[in-house]
Amino acid sequence: MVQRTNTRRMHELRDAFFQDGLRLDGDPTTRDLASCWLCGDRIDYIAAPGTTPDSHNLDHYHPVSDFPELAEDPDNFRHAHASCNQHRGNRAPTAGGLGEPMPVWW
Ligand SMILES: [Zn+2]
Repeated sequence: MVQRTNTRRMHELRDAFFQDGLRLDGDPTTRDLASCWLCGDRIDYIAAPGTTPDSHNLDHYHPVSDFPELAEDPDNFRHAHASCNQHRGNRAPTAGGLGEPMPVWW
């Protein structure tokens, strides 16, 4: 089973990436860059990341399970909805199949 790293550095990278998306979303000319790369809709940057289905989530273009060396590479980061990222799936099995006690993105 693949265990995602959740280091302080990754936490800072996530926060910086969220701030980047927030800035892009605030400007109509760059808003598309801050939209969900999976479904193309705008992301709710008002909600704290990972707190609602439409809130921001850092997704990895190359899955961390296959490319652990890219886990902290900003070039591999994509803006996504929390729900879209979850649907896309991490391939790790969920305990009991009824969801996980902790959100995988936090
Ligand atoms: Zn989406």
